[in-house]
Amino acid sequence: MSQTNQPITYDDNNIFAKMLNGDIPYHKVYEDDKTLAFMDIMPQAKGHVLVIPKQKAVDLADLEAEYAAAVLMTCKKVMQAQRQVFEREGIIQMQLNGAQAGQTVFHYHVHLIPSSIHELGRHAATQVESDRLADIAKQLAAVIVD
Ligand code: 5GP
Repeated sequence: MSQTNQPITYDDNNIFAKMLNGDIPYHKVYEDDKTLAFMDIMPQAKGHVLVIPKQKAVDLADLEAEYAAAVLMTCKKVMQAQRQVFEREGIIQMQLNGAQAGQTVFHYHVHLIPSSIHELGRHAATQVESDRLADIAKQLAAVIVD
């Protein structure tokens, strides 16, 4: 449901669909046959990663079991890498369902944010330079255990 309580249908032109189609660039952290993990362009803390399924799901309600399982397994891999690279235990796992909850991209995704809930920056607010994201993505990808 949107802010006006209208259900949202999957839009093939959403930004994450375009990434999956190879139409726009992103900084990849990890990929397998069912999931993709990449750097959030407007991180709420350094090292903010998004994990998405290769399934056309608007939110959790649409997510098929096999993709739900695959997304969580990828989240575990990414979190392990974040803990190692940033030398911190605290990783926030966040996932917004619907515009009323603050969801802005309507392709299901999990946020993994190395931070404390008390230190979280503003949501989708400030873009970080591509070079910095590329460097972090490289560091995380290098230590992912597949
Ligand atoms: P949501 O608000 O749907 O939970 O989260 C969407 C996330 O996607 C936000 O954290 C936002 O910063 C991120 N985002 C929006 N546009 C882009 C983009 O073009 N590239 C990347 N990598 N992330 C994006």
